[in-house]
Amino acid sequence: MILLVAADVNEVARLGKDFPWAKPSGCPRCRQPLWWHGFVPAYFSCLTEAVFLRRLRCSCCRAVHRLKPQGYWPRFRSSESDISASIHQRTTTGRWRRDQPRERQRQWWRRLKRMTAAVLGIGFAGEAADAFKALVSGGWVPVSTSFQCDNPGTGPPPYRSVPLSNCSWE
Ligand SMILES: [Zn+2]
Repeated sequence: MILLVAADVNEVARLGKDFPWAKPSGCPRCRQPLWWHGFVPAYFSCLTEAVFLRRLRCSCCRAVHRLKPQGYWPRFRSSESDISASIHQRTTTGRWRRDQPRERQRQWWRRLKRMTAAVLGIGFAGEAADAFKALVSGGWVPVSTSFQCDNPGTGPPPYRSVPLSNCSWE
């Protein structure tokens, strides 16, 4: 099974096999203790090199599991939840979060607009936070700079020809 754990995929890539994985408390099938069981290479969009994910083997049912980092998009230094909270706060209060760099938040906002126009269409009627949620649930990185790199979409969309000013939110 793939066990999702809170970890920064960028740190996993940087540290390789030295990344300090936390061992899950027990086998998800039978709850018995797990043993470390080597590594398996995996590829993430936007990271050119393979990332080594930790494997575990159950001492009881012999199932082999692997840990997969979640919570961070590749190449983003802020966590998905921090980015989401920033977009949400800006949508509802018109203010940026104080605990995140303002310029970074502006950049997320600009990229979100661009992704919204290109993926959801320039006529998308919802608020920014709605667009964010819709993009995430569609499997997109909503604050991505590039389709080819971060996103599963097919082919490059008409980026430059999209009239960004037509979004319903600014
Ligand atoms: Zn087991």
